[in-house]
Amino acid sequence: MWFCSLYSGSSGNCLYVGTPKTNILIDAGLSGKKIVSSLKEIGIPPESIDALLITHEHGDHIKGAGIISRMFNIPIFANNNTWEAMSKSIGKVKEENIKVINVDKGFTIGDIDILPYSIPHDAVEPVGYCLGNNGKKISIATDIGHVNEYMINKIQGSNFMLLEANHDVEMLKFGPYPYPLKRRVLSDIGHLSNDDAGKAILNLFRDKQLNVMLGHLSKQNNYPELAYETVVSFLKQNCINIGKDVNLDLASRDNVSNFIEV
Ligand SMILES: [Zn+2]
Ligand SMILES: [Zn+2]
Repeated sequence: MWFCSLYSGSSGNCLYVGTPKTNILIDAGLSGKKIVSSLKEIGIPPESIDALLITHEHGDHIKGAGIISRMFNIPIFANNNTWEAMSKSIGKVKEENIKVINVDKGFTIGDIDILPYSIPHDAVEPVGYCLGNNGKKISIATDIGHVNEYMINKIQGSNFMLLEANHDVEMLKFGPYPYPLKRRVLSDIGHLSNDDAGKAILNLFRDKQLNVMLGHLSKQNNYPELAYETVVSFLKQNCINIGKDVNLDLASRDNVSNFIEV
């Protein structure tokens, strides 16, 4: 199975997961043009996308959803509450391309098994996704205010995961965001900090090597180097060997990430 982050961050999210038979996008929070050009960059023809999965209705996840569905006749998968919350913003979608899913109920697209699971975030019914093929598992966990046991159970055993490292708490506290927005981001239904990403990785680590890509970095309240170094130093303090126990990678806000194969 393959993974590539086309864009990841507060300014727009779009992720690719695929196999030689199936191509899936998770979220489409950028213009259709940007999504198409990034897909071309990784050699995936946009017309070969089999499905678009939506995590939640925030603009940085749905901005281009309707556009690419109409352009390439792509079915959109989201739960009922999310459909209701986003339908005005994404515009008209062909009846046959409206696919309703349920939290904790698995479904299959091509040769990829998909499980949407609940995440703590301030949207109507936000989800993360676990994707499986041929005994391998990829998990997507961004836009999470905090990590709970339920989530850990869902994403446990992944061969690869995209995990949110949204902000540095000090940068956020002393940064330019208005107070209510700071409070929202810091709340337990806001976004995961660099420190909390480190703790989550420690919590997830058993004996098997973990492959983690940090993503959904804030433009205002984080730097890629800071996110990476904060997580690395926390894990090292807790006797985790970077490069052996945990492989750590970083998704960029405006460029495609490394192309991952599991
Ligand atoms: Zn969000
Ligand atoms: Zn987001």
